Amino acid sequence: MDPAKRARVEDWLEYADDLGLGPYFRDRSMPEVAAAAAAATPNASPSAPAAVKKSASAPARPAPPAVAPPKSPIIPPVAAPSLFEVAERVEGDTLEKIRQDLGECTRCRLHKARTHIVFGVGNAKAQLVFVGEGPGHDEDVQGEPFVGRAGKLLTQMIEAMGLCRQDVYICNVVKCRPPENRLPEKDEIAMCSPFLVRQLAAIQPKVICCLGACAAQTLLATNQGISRFRGEWFDYRGAKLIATYHPAYLLRNPNAKSEVWKDLQKVMAVLGLQSKKR
Ligand code: SF4
Repeated sequence: MDPAKRARVEDWLEYADDLGLGPYFRDRSMPEVAAAAAAATPNASPSAPAAVKKSASAPARPAPPAVAPPKSPIIPPVAAPSLFEVAERVEGDTLEKIRQDLGECTRCRLHKARTHIVFGVGNAKAQLVFVGEGPGHDEDVQGEPFVGRAGKLLTQMIEAMGLCRQDVYICNVVKCRPPENRLPEKDEIAMCSPFLVRQLAAIQPKVICCLGACAAQTLLATNQGISRFRGEWFDYRGAKLIATYHPAYLLRNPNAKSEVWKDLQKVMAVLGLQSKKR
């Protein structure tokens, strides 16, 4: 670099350090650091670096205190419905009314190959709701969520928590089976998930347990992988939300069962449940 330019840059950096703005220049994505430094030096003007250039004989100033970078949560909490969601809230909503409104739904392409709409099953006043991603073959045939092999495993998990299926509510993000058990597409989720949101609002559970990435990503409005936040608690509109692995994943990866059991024990602690068996 040209020596004159270099000297000017060094002047700027020295000036910034004098103002305690060093961390800001190191990481401009730290607005808190810049704001704190600006508040500490309200009259400082970056247009006058030469006027405050440090003299060689001036005593060395103590280094500004180290500022810890702000800790950003992995996922912003979904603490309350948005303004639009509040406007869309249905007063006195019930599961029966939501099912009526869903009707013989053809809102997305998933209706074409379905046998039955799989709305949800269980206790309308459940303290615990399990949310999966969508019906599989057995669910599509029977019209009930989680009745295949993965469903049997979920039933065992529920019983291990000291509950039975009738105590909880079980549903999915999409109510019709995606062909070949593929993941639901974004537009299908967008079309169907408002009914899930209404189901959760009508039930008002204490805990929502998302089974697999699709349910967790939909309710937490994130596209991060489930392994980033599995087993963590989130606030979902007044309910506590936790994500764990889908039982179908456990059938393929039995070693992950112990991780899921730890997550379920967290749920049990919140609900004050005692394990009946393991
Ligand atoms: Fe309707 Fe949901 Fe089925 Fe799509 S998946 S057709 S939105 S019920």
